[in-house]
Amino acid sequence: MPAAWESLIHDVPDYPTPGVMFKDITPLLADHDAFAAVVEALAAAGRDADGNVVVDKVVGMEARGFILAAPVALALGAGFVPVRKVGKLPRATHAVNYSLEYGEATLELHTDAIAPGERVLLVDDVLATGGTVAATRELVSRCGGVPHAVAVLMELTFLPGRDAVGELPLHALCQV
Ligand code: 5GP
Repeated sequence: MPAAWESLIHDVPDYPTPGVMFKDITPLLADHDAFAAVVEALAAAGRDADGNVVVDKVVGMEARGFILAAPVALALGAGFVPVRKVGKLPRATHAVNYSLEYGEATLELHTDAIAPGERVLLVDDVLATGGTVAATRELVSRCGGVPHAVAVLMELTFLPGRDAVGELPLHALCQV
């Protein structure tokens, strides 16, 4: 049975371009109980079977990933680290280019945001083609961090995003 919060993710046809069915999570975020349930479920990806926290940092990808990753980090007692679009971080960064459906994009991470050996949970709202997750994994690795798992609210299973997650555990709270 779908969780109660799933009905709060709204389908928006033809956004941002014709033919795309956009999953709008803003109604879910506006509902305290749904937001809290989702944060707790995502945070489980940063704990072992006994409930012990096994990550040092939680990375959120701009922009909706920030909204989820920050409270997940607080729930775990871990640090929050933003991965941002090019030109938005003020100090020295690692940068990774990745392919979009049309064209390319670049994501950046501060070089000192993750210490070598730190275990990192990647959090985003939607896993689609996987380009964002693949680029973020690469950025974490360039800092010497150890990607631990990927946690997303929703996996679009008709796209190959899971391939980008590779051997990492993928915690998708729901699938479409
Ligand atoms: P990917 O890189 O896997 O193709 O796309 C995932 C990124 O695009 C995520 O950061 C996510 O926020 C955004 N994204 C792609 N499709 C959707 C969608 O339908 N709804 C939302 N909320 N975000 C999407």
